[in-house]
Amino acid sequence: MSNKKKNIHNSSFSPDKFHDECGVFGIFGHPEAANMAYLGLHALQHRGQEGAGICSSDRRQLYVEKSIGLVADVFSEKRLKRLPGDIAIGHNRYSTAGSSVLKNVQPITVNFSLGSLAIAHNGNLVNALEVRSELEADGAIFQSTSDSEVIVHLIANSKGDGLYERIIDAMGRLNGAFSLLIMTESEIIAIRDPYGFRPLSIGKLDGAYVFASETCAFDLINAQYLRDVEPGEMVIINQKGMKSLKPLCAHRRASCIFEFVYFARPDSYIFGNQNVNGIRKEFGRQLAREHPIKADLVIPVPDSGVPAAIGYAEESGIPFDFGLVRSHYVGRTFIEPQGAIRHFGVKLKLNPVRKLLEGKKIIVVDDSIVRGTTSKKIVKMLREVGGAKEVHLTISSPPTIGPCFYGIDTPTRKELIAATHSIDEIRKYVTSDSLNYLSLEGLKKVVPDSENYCTACFDNNYPAFTPEDKAEQIALFL
Ligand code: AMP
Repeated sequence: MSNKKKNIHNSSFSPDKFHDECGVFGIFGHPEAANMAYLGLHALQHRGQEGAGICSSDRRQLYVEKSIGLVADVFSEKRLKRLPGDIAIGHNRYSTAGSSVLKNVQPITVNFSLGSLAIAHNGNLVNALEVRSELEADGAIFQSTSDSEVIVHLIANSKGDGLYERIIDAMGRLNGAFSLLIMTESEIIAIRDPYGFRPLSIGKLDGAYVFASETCAFDLINAQYLRDVEPGEMVIINQKGMKSLKPLCAHRRASCIFEFVYFARPDSYIFGNQNVNGIRKEFGRQLAREHPIKADLVIPVPDSGVPAAIGYAEESGIPFDFGLVRSHYVGRTFIEPQGAIRHFGVKLKLNPVRKLLEGKKIIVVDDSIVRGTTSKKIVKMLREVGGAKEVHLTISSPPTIGPCFYGIDTPTRKELIAATHSIDEIRKYVTSDSLNYLSLEGLKKVVPDSENYCTACFDNNYPAFTPEDKAEQIALFL
């Protein structure tokens, strides 16, 4: 075991806390900054449901309010009133079980030699473990298990003269995914990692500047999309206006293709103004061209499969309908009644419309298969409850064979069914009459400039690891 590896294992930073999907929002120069941040976070709720926080500034000091829970539950009118000023940043946190403790909820705020600082981070740092170990060895004391906390420590510890130099210095030591909003009493600094893994857009609302992970947040507050924060760019917004620096060394661009497949909201425009719904529909059309199936009806697994199912139906000419109805009120915990109710877990969320399905050959479209457990239940339910004669499962992305280290929550490689099973084995497991995935070539054909995307979850081609790091980090996930 190398020293480096030993350090990693000695760290109190546990690899099971390494999965963050998040949403960030920022606004500069608006009299209702905190209220706007609240609305922005509300629109970005799909990016994280574990906790939410807003930090505001009245140009004298920072104020922060954050809790575990959904945006609407975390922020009452009274609580928002405790966030004065015309500058604010906010964060929605997603984390896997066990790490949803309050101290991990962002924005993270600190006081250091140059003043106060708040950060909101979307993405995963692949070298957070090493950096944290080094900082701890130098006496740093961490308050959370979030990888984002290393960013504030690096800024505070930097020997750079001013804040910008320190931030640039800190960014140079980070590897992986970061779409980041940093806020002081008087400015917001937005940064995107050189690969451009996660989206981050800039908009304008009257005289105010806004930032959001996705443009659906702009729509809610009537802000106009200006442009993306470019990969490797640092955008500074303060009293003097907007300034752009390109301080980070260029890498190949590697925006996350899975944002198009599953994660982003269909009404958003991301990665250079590409509409997510439009791309998903094209995935469905391409799927229909690659895998034509004789059937009576195309149905989506709602909500994730809807645009691709519409695309499949349009391309194939097979009628589309909502053969599965989704309940939008399923919380994280529920009480399962004693005595077996068949398909209970999935039934709570989805119920087939028997009238539409009975005796029919059905094409059911979902965006991805992860462990395969949901798909198996859906297929069974479509047959047993819905009365479908044939169930053809079609997936609008290629087999998911690699875990994500850059901010999408995926299980370990051995839990990804497609990493260890052939397509026919998966078909047998989910008990569908046929199983077809979109090809990687087909996926790339649909996405403009697809060479600028990270497709590691589909081809194991991880852009942000050196070969040595790769083996080391991947080992931690196995
Ligand atoms: P599974 O039963 O594990 O195969 O789950 C498949 C379902 O999970 C699909 O309907 C996907 O829409 C959804 N899904 C895919 N990726 C993720 C993710 N990163 N987080 C949560 N759900 C996901």
